[in-house]
Amino acid sequence: MKTWFAIPLWQRVVGALILGIALGLYMGPDAEGIKWIGDFFIKSIKMLVVPLIFFSLVAGVAAIGDLRKLGAVGGRALILFVVSGQIAVWLGLALGTGATRLGLFPSKEELGTPDVPTPQPNETTAVDMILSIVPESPVQVMADVAVLPLIVFSMLIGIGILMAKEEGEPVLKIFESGSVVMQKVTMIVMELTPLGVFALMAWVAGTLGIDALKALSWLVVLNYVGCLLIIGVMYSAMIKLIAKLPVIDFFRGIIDAIAVSYSTASSNATLPVTLRCTRRNLGVSNSVASFVVSLGATINMNGTAMYLGLATLFGASIYGVDLSWAQYFLISILATLGAIGAAGIPGAGLIMMALVFGAVGVPLETIAFVAGVDRIMDMMRTTTNVSGDAAVATTVASLTGEIDKAEMVSADDV
Ligand code: ASP
Repeated sequence: MKTWFAIPLWQRVVGALILGIALGLYMGPDAEGIKWIGDFFIKSIKMLVVPLIFFSLVAGVAAIGDLRKLGAVGGRALILFVVSGQIAVWLGLALGTGATRLGLFPSKEELGTPDVPTPQPNETTAVDMILSIVPESPVQVMADVAVLPLIVFSMLIGIGILMAKEEGEPVLKIFESGSVVMQKVTMIVMELTPLGVFALMAWVAGTLGIDALKALSWLVVLNYVGCLLIIGVMYSAMIKLIAKLPVIDFFRGIIDAIAVSYSTASSNATLPVTLRCTRRNLGVSNSVASFVVSLGATINMNGTAMYLGLATLFGASIYGVDLSWAQYFLISILATLGAIGAAGIPGAGLIMMALVFGAVGVPLETIAFVAGVDRIMDMMRTTTNVSGDAAVATTVASLTGEIDKAEMVSADDV
């Protein structure tokens, strides 16, 4: 038992993935019989959706309010967070659309995906749409796991807390502490990952065969391509064109944060390292670094936003769901909200898939389908998220004169 926990989780997950595929290919369709173990894992994740969004989003909105206190710094950081998040989602949607057109994501017929209940997509008429996001009863909304009205309700509570000022502080404390508690609960559930991955991979490989594994490999490849484009093109452009700083020195300065984020798959766990890198190696002032980087660790998740767009199109392809332009826009909004609502912990992106899928009618079974390979993708998403926090902090610091440029250039001796 002790030795089991001594092995890093990601290594256990990779081992489970390989063993699961092998077992699935050996068992064939009989692998259906062990899917329940994977369902147990997915059900445990779903259990977290409502409390995680509720606590994390209320605390997140209240933290955004704090940005105003920082004036120029806060405003600029927020604009960069939102704009880069939107670019990231649309990149994910573009990659997903391309993959579907090129046949890299197989269609329902090609893969022989079984029929599963499709969640009712939101009505497309504007009036119905507006009505559907108003939570008639917050309790009902939570019981139904209706994510969209839950988000609206959570944001309103966050805004209410800000408006209540000092009197709102006890309630804010509850939400901040609740969001920490939920992160711990998530960590417990994540310990089930190797077991879940093992069963789910066996099920996918056994019932759908090599074609399904090929489709999943493309999803993983495109997840990496998307993340690398965000880091290599978007962040580089941000540093070069807006911050007007040397790109190579920026990346050299955050190399430790890149290594830690990739191996832990957690923006939160990497936070101390990201802070140290931005302050010491990039010369960002203390106040800007601590503010922008800590807030970014929770709400700025471009890797996650990109992935949510990409994964939605993957699910739509393999379950034969046609998406309209209006739904693309809905995905772009929800993926951004999902990235804000996602905690900086392993598997958070997977949890947020339920949010986007439910709203556009992609079967939640997709989650079971991709969960087996999620960890490998999560590692890259997290590196993207963390690099983005450092890029925004550095850019904002440069724009507001809160950076010691000599420090950045001398980063080699760190
Ligand atoms: N693990 C990611 C992070 O901590 C979130 C995600 O799952 O996408 O940033």
